[in-house]
Amino acid sequence: MQDDITREVLEFDVLFVGGGPANLSGMIRLLTLAREQNMELEVGLIDKGGAAGAHLLSGAILDPIALKELIPDYLERACPLEAPVAKDAVFYLGKTRAFPVPFAGQVMNSEGCRIVSISKFSTWLSGQAEALGGNIFPGFSGVKVLFDEATGAVTGVRTGDKGVNKNGDKKSNFEPGIDILARVTVFGEGSKGSLFRQLDQRLNLSAGKSPQIYKTAFKEVIKLEEGAKFPKGADVIHTMGYPLGSEASGGGFVYQMSENRVSLGLVIGLDYEDPGFEPHDAFLRFKHHPLIHDLIKGGKVKQQGAKTLPAGGLYSMPKIFFDGGLVVGDSAGVLNTLRLKGIHTAMKSGMLAAETILMAFEQDDFSENTLQAYSRSLDQSWIKTELLPARNFSQAMAKSFLPKLVHLAAQQVSKGRGLVDPMATHSDHARMKPGKKSVNNTEMKDKDSTPLNGTRPETDDDLFVDKLTGVFLSGTQHEEDQPCHLIIVQPDICHGECAEKFDYPCVRFCPGNVYEVRQTDSGERTLHLNPSNCLHCKTCEIKDPFNNILWTCPEGGGGPAYTLV
Ligand code: SF4
Repeated sequence: MQDDITREVLEFDVLFVGGGPANLSGMIRLLTLAREQNMELEVGLIDKGGAAGAHLLSGAILDPIALKELIPDYLERACPLEAPVAKDAVFYLGKTRAFPVPFAGQVMNSEGCRIVSISKFSTWLSGQAEALGGNIFPGFSGVKVLFDEATGAVTGVRTGDKGVNKNGDKKSNFEPGIDILARVTVFGEGSKGSLFRQLDQRLNLSAGKSPQIYKTAFKEVIKLEEGAKFPKGADVIHTMGYPLGSEASGGGFVYQMSENRVSLGLVIGLDYEDPGFEPHDAFLRFKHHPLIHDLIKGGKVKQQGAKTLPAGGLYSMPKIFFDGGLVVGDSAGVLNTLRLKGIHTAMKSGMLAAETILMAFEQDDFSENTLQAYSRSLDQSWIKTELLPARNFSQAMAKSFLPKLVHLAAQQVSKGRGLVDPMATHSDHARMKPGKKSVNNTEMKDKDSTPLNGTRPETDDDLFVDKLTGVFLSGTQHEEDQPCHLIIVQPDICHGECAEKFDYPCVRFCPGNVYEVRQTDSGERTLHLNPSNCLHCKTCEIKDPFNNILWTCPEGGGGPAYTLV
């Protein structure tokens, strides 16, 4: 859309971009501290989801350490938590068998944690922030970072235009985006944020750091049959091994919830090499494994979703302060991959950001000089203490079986240092190797149309749902008549080099069935996009082997509508 539009300007003292636990905790902390000091601050938060929590998906086991600091009487305030976790069990899965892994549960350290629906939890946090006077605007996507061209400082964010058709023309309901200005803007967009990309390009926030690496997590809430029982009496199960094995790193989980439901998922490292590998098929195979199948058989999927999470650890954390702004939560990469928990670290990062912002208002200085105190306080907090032992974990997990065990054992006895510190990290998009074909690949068929190397996992309507049913169960919806929010930078590459070397891997790695290869009568193949199915997981921007896909924010309010996961 051309930019000769007159735009409304809205001003806040502080603007939070993104409605996840990091920013909501930051908002609550800031408003609480400001109230204690009789300081009046106008604080706003925008989120691209249609409602609070609508775009949030996570494991989700909450270590309550940050919640206790933020809202000590959270139980009296009816915080929506499930029962405390009493027992963790970890299994190594072979194709049909499961072997308990003793002591591994201590590493996950879930005892005393609470299972949550992250969407419900964040809706509750939003209510707490609003009760303190916070202004929360769901349905507004930030599309452009605003800078003071004279000083280079971040001055706020422009929200997306609404009512623009597929061709970029204004429709009758056109509403121009708003310029929201603030003394400090806090970016908590989650994993692989599109505004963070703009910041990084201009301010070089990732310079000198290891590349960030990611995992894609599939997650479902399943209503179980009456009488279904967790194995070994545990209420949290973590798995390693099948179906990922040597193809990809990662693991699975099943968490017991109230009302005879479970939260179940598979987390898959996006450093895999095989272009034929299909993450959604792996998720189905995980559910078909006897250990999992015995628990969920007869059940029904109530909600499904997918998201990516940053897994690089401390060495991949970008610079998180600059003139006029801070970065928090998954955008800052504070997830603890060793424990597979990140809500508490995200919350704490938001709280530390809030404390720094309050100090900036006291000093009336919003430059990098003052805001860098946030990075120092994060280094001195329990976030750093927690992330240090995990600093090389994902890198070790990406190794093949024996080297992986050796690295993990060395890291275990040396508090994370291991044999090499830091271990090398490679961008996920650069890991794919041409020509390999996975057992999951069904594109290669013999003359009877039988998959050469394996069969697709079975699907049904209730428990083993296919991708499209999964999209339906995520509640995903978008305005159909809008510009495609997935930008293919060089379309020629798709049908040329990418088709030849990798056979359109986007069709397989996208969990939303957004990318589709169609064949014309003359045999010509075309790539067709269904952006309305997009789950906003960002896997495509991360894993495309030519870095040829850019994810941008669609019209605000579109996307998943998570309420349970
Ligand atoms: Fe995820 Fe990209 Fe597919 Fe959307 S198009 S669901 S962001 S992989």
